[in-house]
Amino acid sequence: MLSAYLDKLRSKGLTTSFVPTMGALHRGHISLITQAKQIAPISVCSIFVNPTQFNDASDYNKYPSRVAADIKLLSDAGNDVLFLPSVASVYQEGMSDLESYDLGYLETIFEGKYRPGHFQGVCQVMSRLLKAVRPDFLVMGLKDYQQCLVVKQLMSIIRMDTKFVGCATLREPDGLAMSSRNLRLDDQQRAVAPAIFHALFTAKQKVLTESHAVIEKQAMDELNENGFRVEYFSIVNSNNLLPDASLDKSTPLVALTAAYLGEVRLIDNMFLTD
Ligand code: AMP
Repeated sequence: MLSAYLDKLRSKGLTTSFVPTMGALHRGHISLITQAKQIAPISVCSIFVNPTQFNDASDYNKYPSRVAADIKLLSDAGNDVLFLPSVASVYQEGMSDLESYDLGYLETIFEGKYRPGHFQGVCQVMSRLLKAVRPDFLVMGLKDYQQCLVVKQLMSIIRMDTKFVGCATLREPDGLAMSSRNLRLDDQQRAVAPAIFHALFTAKQKVLTESHAVIEKQAMDELNENGFRVEYFSIVNSNNLLPDASLDKSTPLVALTAAYLGEVRLIDNMFLTD
């Protein structure tokens, strides 16, 4: 039993860091394991494709699964504990009538707006995983920037004093953010996919001199012309994800985007003012 095993380690004074994933691991995930191992003697990685966070059933059904390859990558990276629960063990009471969490406006914008119910699902699974692992540190990728803010809010709602550690996004040499979903891109889509990175980088270069609205429109036009179907490309305050067009150099800004290439939905972001 995982909890009993982790309790035993805790009783010896060993701290734990936790990396939740949905598997089909790539070097981005492994960079989180490396970070987790640097901050605590015991790293715990979970692989669980959480059905309640998929608002699109076909996205869930097509989510890649490569557990044997994942186990090899984790063991090569020196991960200590793998938590590989079943759906029935995570949702012992079933998946209807699940609890809901007050995420306020965070749930009405960007990923919350375009994937209704997604963040409730993220909170439902994260509250269960966090209660099972009770880690000292939770290590997550800034690639899912809004998710990081949601999970921090969840931890304050459920009163977990786990420390949150956000890790930089790992990219392919051409700038495409590593993602398990990249496996679903065909050759032609894979060739144009780095346009997302270029649009974000262009925004970073222009952010202190041009209006945010103009930069956002140019980015969306450029992506749409390259065959993407853009859902949003927005420049916002990175602390609260609210618009801030003040050109005040002290405001920390992030550009967030989500766009489809064919049936594959890609998300990415970039800090603009660091
Ligand atoms: P996922 O398996 O997509 O749920 O991702 C598991 C964790 O890995 C999340 O905290 C993600 O933000 C993080 N992650 C995904 N892609 C990357 C990447 N390219 N670089 C760094 N972290 C990532």
